[in-house]
Amino acid sequence: MASEKITVHDKVFDLLLSQSEIEARIDQLSVLINEHYREQCPIFLMVLNGAFMFGTELVKRFQGPCEVSFLRAKSYVGMASSGSVQVDGQLSPIKNRPVLLIEDIVDSGTTLAKLMPMLRDENPISLRLASLLFKPAALQHDLKVDYCGFEIPNRFVVGYGLDYNQLGRNYPAIYVLEG
Ligand code: 5GP
Ligand code: MG
Repeated sequence: MASEKITVHDKVFDLLLSQSEIEARIDQLSVLINEHYREQCPIFLMVLNGAFMFGTELVKRFQGPCEVSFLRAKSYVGMASSGSVQVDGQLSPIKNRPVLLIEDIVDSGTTLAKLMPMLRDENPISLRLASLLFKPAALQHDLKVDYCGFEIPNRFVVGYGLDYNQLGRNYPAIYVLEG
């Protein structure tokens, strides 16, 4: 049973989404992803670090052949978006391949507004987006989340891969900053 409150560094967070709620939702998304991609040998492209846990759960539920790849994108320092986005890591070839980009959270959408055109320039056969969390009230770009876990309020969250200054990623539930 997950705790109702956690402390990460100097901040207290309240439980927002339990492990069982998250896993039930991932099961639902995986049905859709299996239906769409089963015969296509997709590349599951996880955005590190935050998407590692969600991405792992999606990949474990996929029932066809697939590749798994990673890239790193960073826009947050502490609890505020820095506005600029850094992308690094050698991207494995995605030309003529179906790609499912896997994110932890879509907040302002700035990261993906930069990343998705870069990936499209590599000519994948298709490019879809899965994100565990989505803050509609924070969105500042024209973006579609094809497989969205949960829409959440515009508040800072940790857990299930998401960190507060590098801590908190290991919690198997999502917590929201108190207050
Ligand atoms: P965006 O570019 O959409 O504003 O932000 C995307 C990235 O910022 C996410 O991939 C995530 O790493 C980070 N981020 C946005 N909102 C939150 C949040 O509430 N908590 C945490 N821990 N990271 C967030
Ligand atoms: Mg991220």
